Amino acid sequence: MQPSADSLHLGNYLGALTNWVKMQDEFNAYYMIVDLHAITVPQDPKQLRDNTRRTAAQYLAAGIDPEKSALFVQSHVPAHAQLAWVMNCITGFGEASRMTQFKDKSQKAGTDSASVGLFTYPILQAADILLYQPKKVPVGEDQRQHLELTRDLAMRFNTRFGQTFTVPEAHILKETAKIFDLQNPTAKMSKSNEAKGTINIMDDSAKTAKKIKSAVTDLDGDISFDPENKPGVSNLLGIYSAVSGNSIEKLVSELSGKGYGDLKTSVSDAVLSVIEPIRQRAEELLADEAELDRLLGLGADRASAQAEQTLAAVYEKIGFLPRK
Ligand code: AMP
Repeated sequence: MQPSADSLHLGNYLGALTNWVKMQDEFNAYYMIVDLHAITVPQDPKQLRDNTRRTAAQYLAAGIDPEKSALFVQSHVPAHAQLAWVMNCITGFGEASRMTQFKDKSQKAGTDSASVGLFTYPILQAADILLYQPKKVPVGEDQRQHLELTRDLAMRFNTRFGQTFTVPEAHILKETAKIFDLQNPTAKMSKSNEAKGTINIMDDSAKTAKKIKSAVTDLDGDISFDPENKPGVSNLLGIYSAVSGNSIEKLVSELSGKGYGDLKTSVSDAVLSVIEPIRQRAEELLADEAELDRLLGLGADRASAQAEQTLAAVYEKIGFLPRK
């Protein structure tokens, strides 16, 4: 994830982070805070530094365990930028131009103000992945095209220079919760939406409770799960189910005969019981920057050990003279 906000939102937590925490037991996982990607759009230096620590603290607080996984900051492992350059040189200009996410993002920013870094972002992403020789990459639908590019580049390199990279497959997570905006429940919850509709992990409890109390519902008073006709109520039920671990059917039957006020109180209590301890732990971690930085240093050491090995093989294959 990018360190581009001072707090993760509930969608990041339920849609991504909880899965990453679970995956640590099954896989040898690498989790990275992508500050190199964050500078592809204009950013404030102090905020970037603060948000990098804040993102790391929230990962740790949510259960990413530095003993089990490598948790690190992208710029701490120079091999990312180094491999990205090599990958830039085997990517066609037309091929990079076909990435639809760049088209969307640059249209929003105005093509003239979009940076070359934003254009080559998917190539850095390919380097991010290939350095660790993974068999699988957990991705959402929106990242499929970029993963295809990664696979194409890995195969191209292997064909041209000899077997070097594992060609990774998409690991599509089943049953991933999709969380919608509280005020505009047909849009995904996102950091770029208006603050009122977004539940932030680092907000204090009163603010979160107030946002949930003001969530959009319906006029008919009925509590049922029908995302098409009742997006607001269905989103609250989806959130309730994701944080409580209970099925939507069970929650609907529990709430039968009750009103939206009761639903919101229950959702609010359940959400807070999950995010409040995470916020508190993250605050504790942020209060001791030296310890937080030490943990990130350990993660970078662990990541570098693997990344440097891949980079050395790449440099050798493409004919760079080894430094003595
Ligand atoms: P972003 O910074 O918006 O790219 O979000 C990082 C990750 O969080 C995404 O790849 C998704 O897995 C997850 N995510 C973001 N927004 C939501 C949402 N509204 N519902 C579920 N998952 C989300």
